[in-house]
Amino acid sequence: MPTRIITGDGCLVKGSSYLSGLGKKALIITGKNSSKMNGSLDDAIEALENEKIRYKIFDKVGEHPSVELIQEIYDRFRDEGIEFILALGGGAPIDASKAAGVLFRNREISAAEAFSMKNLRSIPIAAVPTTAGTGSEVTPYSIITDSSMRQKKDFGQESFPKVAYLDSRYTYYISRENTANNAVDALSHLVEGVLNKRATLFSDTLAMRGLALFSEVKDHLMNGNLTAEDRKKLITASTLGGMVISQTGTSIPHALGYILTTDKELPHGSATAAIYRGYLRLFNNDSRYQAVLKTLGFSSSDEFTGFISDLTDYDLSLTEEEIRSYTNASLNNLGKMKNHPYTIRKEDIEEIYRVASLKKSAVR
Ligand code: NAP
Ligand code: ZN
Repeated sequence: MPTRIITGDGCLVKGSSYLSGLGKKALIITGKNSSKMNGSLDDAIEALENEKIRYKIFDKVGEHPSVELIQEIYDRFRDEGIEFILALGGGAPIDASKAAGVLFRNREISAAEAFSMKNLRSIPIAAVPTTAGTGSEVTPYSIITDSSMRQKKDFGQESFPKVAYLDSRYTYYISRENTANNAVDALSHLVEGVLNKRATLFSDTLAMRGLALFSEVKDHLMNGNLTAEDRKKLITASTLGGMVISQTGTSIPHALGYILTTDKELPHGSATAAIYRGYLRLFNNDSRYQAVLKTLGFSSSDEFTGFISDLTDYDLSLTEEEIRSYTNASLNNLGKMKNHPYTIRKEDIEEIYRVASLKKSAVR
């Protein structure tokens, strides 16, 4: 994981010197509103001005950035002499920055062409996450929506940010619902990193520390009373989750959940949460899963799945035809399915979707 991580309150301004090595002109890519409200955009501008770096701003990244948006960003700023990107916001602006960075580096390639290529490099990225969930600030992944195929998938290039600034103060004003969705995303990266064929001693060490931090905040998370200290732990757990999946990749819940996001418009965290109830049944007697439960401080699998369900709010009802079609689509996501440590049958996937579609009360 080649990203330099700078942490702490005010770290973007205090650590602005790390930006100066990235270039003389930056493009700030951010979301529509939140970075103007939580202080991160003001800090980014102050940090760039400290270093006498000129900048432009693109502040129109919505949820689920598309191939077309990536092209639009490049077309708009292609002649501006942009040397690096300062990505500011949740996973969507950070992922959009990584994908746009590839076009700035490979100027003859369109976003649509890049989507089907591999190993293209990006101009340097500095990432400032303002949500605690995706870990995108330390992953090579960039999840982009292919609108023509109604599919979310990795842009396919290795775009690790050069530097990431973790300042949990930016996360103070996220709604309770979004905080919970983000937290479930971070949690799922940690869990899927352990219950994974590619797990190693090193990825486990990071994942277990992340799960231990999560266990310290889980009660406050549930009752909606996160302290400043909890927010620091949560963003740290999220970054650890990103470091873990950079090594292991994610697994079944992310493969199955993406379709619920594109087709049923469930937020990423809720979509993953819906899948977890059925997914964790695949690990009944697994000692590694027992270690996950113990580290999280849950005495049983039911207690854990109950926690995830209670934390997120979703209403999902799938027809048998949808279950069959989603199952076939998920099985095609070979990159994620092969990370599952056991043989997985089509019927198992159908059953996971069936459980996801049950009312919460029916599962208890
Ligand atoms: P997001 O989609 O970037 O943003 C969701 C909402 O949260 C937006 O309305 C945004 O508002 C708002 N928001 C962001 N920061 C905020 C803050 N500090 N205070 C208040 N509101 C704030 O959210 P996300 O959940 O972080 O990212 C989800 C995306 O990341 C998905 O596309 C998912 O596929 C992707 N993802 C990527 C990876 C990876 O490794 N690359 C891993 C997991 C997930 P504004 O638009 O106004 O900013
Ligand atoms: Zn995720």
